[in-house]
Amino acid sequence: MNDSHPVDDHAAPHTAPVAVSPRTRVVAAGRPERAPGAALNPPVTFTSTYIADGPTNYARVDNPTWTPFEEAVGGLEGGEALLYSSGMAAVSAVLALVPTGGVVVAPAAAYNGVVVLLTEAVAAGRLEVRWVDVTDADAVVEALTGADLLWLESPTNPLLDVADIAGLTLAAHEAGALVAVDNTFATPLLQRPLEDGVDIVVHSATKYLAGHSDVILGLTVTAADEPGRALRERTARHRTLGGAIAGPMEAWLALRGLRTLALRLERSCANAADLAARLADHPRIARVRYPGWGAIVSVDVAGTGDGDGALEAETLASGTRIWSHSTSLGGVESQLERRRRQPGEPETTPVNLVRMSVGVEDVDDLWTDLRQALDAIG
Ligand SMILES: *Cc1c(COP(=O)(O)O)cnc(C)c1O
Repeated sequence: MNDSHPVDDHAAPHTAPVAVSPRTRVVAAGRPERAPGAALNPPVTFTSTYIADGPTNYARVDNPTWTPFEEAVGGLEGGEALLYSSGMAAVSAVLALVPTGGVVVAPAAAYNGVVVLLTEAVAAGRLEVRWVDVTDADAVVEALTGADLLWLESPTNPLLDVADIAGLTLAAHEAGALVAVDNTFATPLLQRPLEDGVDIVVHSATKYLAGHSDVILGLTVTAADEPGRALRERTARHRTLGGAIAGPMEAWLALRGLRTLALRLERSCANAADLAARLADHPRIARVRYPGWGAIVSVDVAGTGDGDGALEAETLASGTRIWSHSTSLGGVESQLERRRRQPGEPETTPVNLVRMSVGVEDVDDLWTDLRQALDAIG
């Protein structure tokens, strides 16, 4: 994890030549060229087609509204980004790189959409999947023999397991496998996997990058070198032909949301650290899962009597007034949910686990609200 904000020497977008810190970059990147009378913000382009003989002739291939957001996120990750209609569309574009019959090594406790997608690919005979615990590096390395793709998520959703990205990437490359990292939970402000040699970074931009729970979007990011560009070419082709493209309005909203990423994350991470400590002292909390950074905290709720805690977890999740009882994460507003109520949630997630996405509200208000909901369990 890179939790400092060092001067970075990635190629800055041409519109922000002096932006060196990611905190500045989120504000400055993806702006129109400065000129007298020019707009400060990029326009939204609503079109399905373009006049012939230009660089693009149809809007399933490209839209100028995607470009500033792609440039901004690509710059933050130290690579080149492609925007998709959702995080799952980005995941699908990456999995399509694996040939039929290919082998994927993936966390058993990954995001549920990825687990279900891979499970169905196995059932259809399209892929072989070796499920691993990403915290057990030896087991991951052992599973890599003959693999085509190592899929990592770190921290994982919702157990918050952290993988040794650099070490596992080295081992995967020795085994001849590509490495993809779902960086949704960390964001490029806390972790930049391309710097560890990872081939493809994946985001659900629905979450922190857009940050306001008002759009569904995804991204892939690849290195700005020959192998990276070859992968980008293949995933771009999948986007064009599969058709999982972003609407221009969503792309514009995501760039506006990205402007405050550093501010939002600073407050959310500070709130999460504070709440993780307070939760650990509450008698209704059996376990706090928090890697020591980031803005997600998961808790295992203690059962009353002989219960497994599932009912008590539901009581907590439905008993808050400031926290919203809703799925998803990464917005300005605090949200919580008992994860196993989602169909397809892997059994690696305990039935009594509540995932908390800590927002930017006043931390004492958030704690007061949580405490009254916990106290109400009885
Ligand atoms: C939400 C999420 C996804 C899927 O993204 P969508 O934008 O909902 O399609 C993938 N990975 C992680 C870690 C997520 O949290």
